[in-house]
Amino acid sequence: MKYNIGFHVPAAGGYAAMVDRAAAAGANTFQYFTRNPRGGAVRAHDEADMQAANRKMREYGMGNIVAHAPYTLNPCAAEENTLKFAYMAFKDDLARIQGMPNAMYNLHPGCHVGQGIERGLEKLAAFLNDCIPDGFQNWVLLETMAGKGSELGGTFDQLKWVIDNVKPGVNVGVCLDTCHVFDAGYDIRNIGAVLDEFDRVIGLDLLKAVHINDSQNSIGSRKDRHACLGGGEIGWQPFVDVVTEPRLSHLPMILETPTEFEDRAEEIRILRAACEDNSACA
Ligand code: FE
Ligand code: FE
Ligand code: ZN
Repeated sequence: MKYNIGFHVPAAGGYAAMVDRAAAAGANTFQYFTRNPRGGAVRAHDEADMQAANRKMREYGMGNIVAHAPYTLNPCAAEENTLKFAYMAFKDDLARIQGMPNAMYNLHPGCHVGQGIERGLEKLAAFLNDCIPDGFQNWVLLETMAGKGSELGGTFDQLKWVIDNVKPGVNVGVCLDTCHVFDAGYDIRNIGAVLDEFDRVIGLDLLKAVHINDSQNSIGSRKDRHACLGGGEIGWQPFVDVVTEPRLSHLPMILETPTEFEDRAEEIRILRAACEDNSACA
């Protein structure tokens, strides 16, 4: 399969079940939550299940996948217990993920909750430096955010600052969310220009995954409400442009659209077909 297209897969039943669920819907990559996204509870680690998942991913020819941190993980929280949870959950997630070499760990940069952007970014960099063990091989990805409220990561400059302030040898990259960057004010309908800007500020070699979502709101709205591809303010064609963009086509493209699970196979089939037609005529 020419493009790496997948979706956010329910984690029920464990790792191997997730891989089968993704493959059954025609995905050759996927994303999952490492633990309950709103609470943080986690299932007991099952090494045999993880190894079975690794075997299945090889059989299906899946490349890199994305493990998404819970929303409740705020690495720059002001409140002590919230910060404690962030440290605990992040370290525990990283320990587990080492058993899946092709998994990249994606987290939201966090909310500064009144401490200010600068202090928030400093705390995030310190958090990454404290928690990522020496020699850790998997990539850790900071997601581009809409900049809602006190959310960090709404500009490429903020992410660049953090990347520049993590200790050398640590693999920290970026996951670009099309809905989020659009809501933050980057016009993703012109993917070429957004990538030029990304390359100028951060460097395209650090772009490791893409979340493909349309947005319910207009450019610069800072809202973060996902829509199905073509069903929002971005429109359909830009997503074909994103997937087929030569600077992106090697990356995992993950749908986080509000599509029912039963309709995922069709959503992926339509997107793949449109992208393959597009590149055939190019
Ligand atoms: Fe996210
Ligand atoms: Fe996202
Ligand atoms: Zn979002």
